[in-house]
Amino acid sequence: MSEIKSNVEQILSGLPEGVCLVAVSKTKTIENILEAYNFGQRIFAENRVQELIAKKDFLPYDIQWHLIGHLQTNKVKYIAPFISMIQSVDSLKLLSLINSEAKKLGRTIDCLLQFHIAEEENKFGFLFNEAVEAISSIEYKEMKNIRIRGLMGIATFTNDEQQIRKEFRSLYANYLKIKEMFFFDNNSFSVLSMGMSDDYSIAIEEGSNMVRIGSKIFGVRK
Ligand SMILES: *Cc1c(COP(=O)(O)O)cnc(C)c1O
Repeated sequence: MSEIKSNVEQILSGLPEGVCLVAVSKTKTIENILEAYNFGQRIFAENRVQELIAKKDFLPYDIQWHLIGHLQTNKVKYIAPFISMIQSVDSLKLLSLINSEAKKLGRTIDCLLQFHIAEEENKFGFLFNEAVEAISSIEYKEMKNIRIRGLMGIATFTNDEQQIRKEFRSLYANYLKIKEMFFFDNNSFSVLSMGMSDDYSIAIEEGSNMVRIGSKIFGVRK
């Protein structure tokens, strides 16, 4: 059995029920992706629009593509026709653009709000109060072609397990608060995307139900 297949198998066998595996295929080839696909994996994620567009037409149509990288507003139109979920929504402006592109296509696009939980400055995302402000806005209430499914966050790149745990814990707390404040009667707000190759076990312990795993499936990126 190829390494990719056995990696997926091993990861899946360790995931608790209800935790969804997103295979992060950035920088990886069509052949690599097909190996995981042939093992049954259907959800894949890329962080760059250009790369996603270049690959997807060579791959089966039943793949559910997620975008996990910072999305520039002028690129929304390229992915709006097919994207299954945009995990990296980091502003009301972007949400509004996704909504209008989705409306043109007569579809609804699932989104996660990306929260800034890391210490690093260079990571994108909402702070709690900013997200509350966005979801409370009239502009948001008028958006009929997007669906906020939950939150996403990236922990600080560090070996300090306590730091990572603390960040995941706070994201989980924010997820519950946002759910209670705005989506208590809405079952579709149910996704907490946190955890990557090196920290997904901690993330699951802290409440994650969607993990985004790249190098542990496909090998390290160059
Ligand atoms: C690259 C990436 C991942 C996967 O990282 P690995 O450490 O290779 O598992 C997950 N989430 C985001 C947002 C990424 O950019």
